[in-house]
Amino acid sequence: MTVVIAGAGIAGLTLGLTLHQIGVPFRIFEAVPTIKPLGVGINIQPNAVRELFELGLEEALDRAGVRTKEYGFFTKTGQEIWTEPRGHLAGYKWPQFSMHRGKLQMELLAALRARVPEAVITDHRAIRFENRAGAAVLHLRGPDGDVTVEGDVVLAADGINSALRAQMYPNEGEPVWNGSVMWRAISRGQAFRTGASMILAGHDRIRFVAYPITTPDPETGQADINWIAEVKRDPGEGWRKADYNAAVDFRTFFPTFADWNFGWLDCPSLIKAADEIYEYPMIDRDPLPRWTDGRVTLMGDAAHPAYPVGSNGASQAIVDARIIGALFQKHGVGPQALQAFEDQVRPRMTQVVLANRGGGGPDAVMQMVEDRSGGRFDNIEDVIPHAELAAHAAKYKAMAGFAVEDLNERPPFIT
Ligand SMILES: Cc1cc2nc3c(=O)[nH]c(=O)nc-3n(C[C@H](O)[C@H](O)[C@H](O)COP(=O)(O)OP(=O)(O)OC[C@H]3O[C@@H](n4cnc5c(N)ncnc54)[C@H](O)[C@@H]3O)c2cc1C
Repeated sequence: MTVVIAGAGIAGLTLGLTLHQIGVPFRIFEAVPTIKPLGVGINIQPNAVRELFELGLEEALDRAGVRTKEYGFFTKTGQEIWTEPRGHLAGYKWPQFSMHRGKLQMELLAALRARVPEAVITDHRAIRFENRAGAAVLHLRGPDGDVTVEGDVVLAADGINSALRAQMYPNEGEPVWNGSVMWRAISRGQAFRTGASMILAGHDRIRFVAYPITTPDPETGQADINWIAEVKRDPGEGWRKADYNAAVDFRTFFPTFADWNFGWLDCPSLIKAADEIYEYPMIDRDPLPRWTDGRVTLMGDAAHPAYPVGSNGASQAIVDARIIGALFQKHGVGPQALQAFEDQVRPRMTQVVLANRGGGGPDAVMQMVEDRSGGRFDNIEDVIPHAELAAHAAKYKAMAGFAVEDLNERPPFIT
């Protein structure tokens, strides 16, 4: 096999679709026996939407989610700090989408299986890799024992707890926790503001994030609202092992948000309306000095897991896949393309991971307002001038790779 991929998440599946598009043979090996639509809401930024549209997935995205119209920051009492239009409304040629992560994964999987029925082999967990003369070998644990697969290259798309990253960095250990705990769920509730707005309220120590992931019912105005309640604790307390599916009772954190009813958004009602709430620590990993070892490289969360404050983790996983495809077209399938991918993406993602840790993420203005005003003001201009807020928002978009002009004018990655 030419390209061997570990992990059928967002990164691995998008890479599979890209390789099919450019005519490169590949196989994806996924650890779980059955891929299920797990997770809650995510956002796909216009730079990644563009890539999925160029893979013929526009209808799939419309089935999976909603076109986001607005993004904004509010205080802990619901006062507006900054809002901006998103997607087409912001001048992009491509929309932004908010959707269920599992729905996106299932749409990518269905599209890939329709194009390459044998593309994904489940129940095969990557254990380690090996560089041999002219080949890369992936060692896998399958239902009938251990097997090896040889390819020209191996791509590690096996997520934040990547086995192949652990082989490259055996002393790295567990992800880094910043002390925040997130409770995440989807509740049926009243769509707010534009009906497709993503909002963050609060500051660094306590916040609530909400956005609809379905189109509001035209009669009731109700939609599936993805929400995250987040509280910063003492990192010394330690955290339970990160598991995207650890369910908890709402009473464990409800009192903290009991009076967060802003009128236009009723956070306590959303919390109470959830069927299942998942607890997840805010974790990332330190940026790495290299991602590539010969014919093996890391991509997506295996390469650059970041705090999800900029809503661009899944987007960057998609963009990684497209850049790798473009570099295979340019350099051929081999170590040169992998190194070129690392050289192009790693410096920028190092900046993003560090910015998301504090001060540089788009949400940093929430803490600035809390520090300067206690979160209460008559006029936001008295706290932070509009120009300062606009400059902050623009700076992050440029760093994360979705500045409007840059994206609209850039030629396609895959020609
Ligand atoms: C179950 C699950 C739920 C998630 N829910 C959310 C969410 O609600 N919100 C959010 O922002 N992000 C969520 N994420 C993370 C989000 O998908 C990623 O941050 C982002 O999309 C980057 O995608 P990725 O493909 O690099 O990693 P992931 O989407 O994490 O995909 C990694 C894939 O590799 C597989 N895998 C892991 N180890 C191995 C191995 N050794 N061998 C082979 N396969 C392996 C995993 O099963 C998974 O399918 C979730 C991830 C997972 C796995």
